[in-house]
Amino acid sequence: MKSDLRFECTQCGKCCTSRGDYAYVYLNSSEIEALAGYLEISVDRFRRKYTFVDEDGWTQLNFTKEHCIFLDPETNGCEVYGARPIQCSTFPFWRSMVKDGKWTPQVAELCEGIGRGRKYSLEESEVPMRQYEESDED
Ligand code: SF4
Ligand code: SF4
Repeated sequence: MKSDLRFECTQCGKCCTSRGDYAYVYLNSSEIEALAGYLEISVDRFRRKYTFVDEDGWTQLNFTKEHCIFLDPETNGCEVYGARPIQCSTFPFWRSMVKDGKWTPQVAELCEGIGRGRKYSLEESEVPMRQYEESDED
């Protein structure tokens, strides 16, 4: 199968905004520790201030009505970029976003970087996809 996966992030910040199914950032314990360390606060404080536990027992980042708690709406930048969760760093290379070597219409609608820039091979795209899947197992 050939790849048709072109992508280049424009830094528009849209993937960090509250958009139905995409308004969730899940955190495993390593990510929580990394974020707390990045902000130089304790894990307990980080959990209290920036996260909640959902009905299924998963820890998620807080969102305002409009966006992730760490999105700076002035610049569209991530305030914890150096320690951002794997879900964020691997976007849009999620298995659910790719079908038959092409981006799905859903991700193309959400992300303006889809279809821009260079083409990623299926082998290259497999790396972030696996990284994302493995982050669930932590
Ligand atoms: S929506 Fe796409 S182009 Fe915009 S910041 Fe997110 S990854 Fe980059
Ligand atoms: S942690 Fe950063 S990259 Fe992830 S959704 Fe929040 S602002 Fe966006």
